[in-house]
Amino acid sequence: MKQAIGVDIGGGSIRVSLFDEEGKELKSNHTKTPEHLDNQSFLEILKESIRPLTPGAIGIGVGSPGPLNNETGVLLTSANMVGLQNVPIKQTLERAFSLPVYYENDANCAALGEAYFGSYKEYESQLILTLGTGVGGGFVNRGALYTGYLGNGIEIGHTTSVIGGALCGCGAKGCVESYFSTRGFLNRYFEKTQTKLPNAEAFFDLVRKEDPISKEILEFGTLALAHAVRGAIHLLNPEVVVFVGGITNSYDLFGKHLESEIRSNIFSVLNERLKLGKGRNLSGTLGACSLVFAKKKV
Ligand SMILES: [Zn+2]
Repeated sequence: MKQAIGVDIGGGSIRVSLFDEEGKELKSNHTKTPEHLDNQSFLEILKESIRPLTPGAIGIGVGSPGPLNNETGVLLTSANMVGLQNVPIKQTLERAFSLPVYYENDANCAALGEAYFGSYKEYESQLILTLGTGVGGGFVNRGALYTGYLGNGIEIGHTTSVIGGALCGCGAKGCVESYFSTRGFLNRYFEKTQTKLPNAEAFFDLVRKEDPISKEILEFGTLALAHAVRGAIHLLNPEVVVFVGGITNSYDLFGKHLESEIRSNIFSVLNERLKLGKGRNLSGTLGACSLVFAKKKV
């Protein structure tokens, strides 16, 4: 059975795993990265964390937060690793290991991993939304990831749901992730109460305790997300819409409302066949690794 490597570059660490074609993890390692790094020292750490897993691998898939250029395989900048700029990831790894290297942003990797190894893998056309710190998206059609020009497409989190609405991290106003994401929930809660919540779990704990302010924020956020998804369904006409990411741990608190709002606002012809639901929340390394297997299939 074929084997491939998945690399997940996050803020503060690099995770590398070797998987077989069925998505079984065979080996893995986890390296912490220092806060202040230049390109050269980052690439050295990256190579050394991948090297022990290369025997037997047919390729390397790499995922990281953007912005990046997936054609040239360059990480342009990183919000979490400020010393890095225009890092030639693909070229460096191809030279070091003589293996094909594929590089995409982490939301696209998560989407492809879910499409290949997740709950709805038998369906051909999938829109996958990652609900976490922000809202990421990916679209997989007949096994191929649609990335858009240079790989930064399907940024559904930064589509507008409220004209002139709340300020988003991207600098624009009214993006859907200002209303439905960890950052969005905490910021909206702070606006109404002047109380800083530490994380999404704290927010959802309040919802479970029937706190009216958090319930109202979740209710409005769910509508904002539902209408962003409606727009995406009408643009892309996927067979399946899958929700993944940390926030889906609380899917019982908003899933029904989200699904019914989507279903009651899309064309009825689309409704008949569309599937909506929660995905499997696979690891970032498996998502990155699926880039290798996917390229072989297209
Ligand atoms: Zn935005």
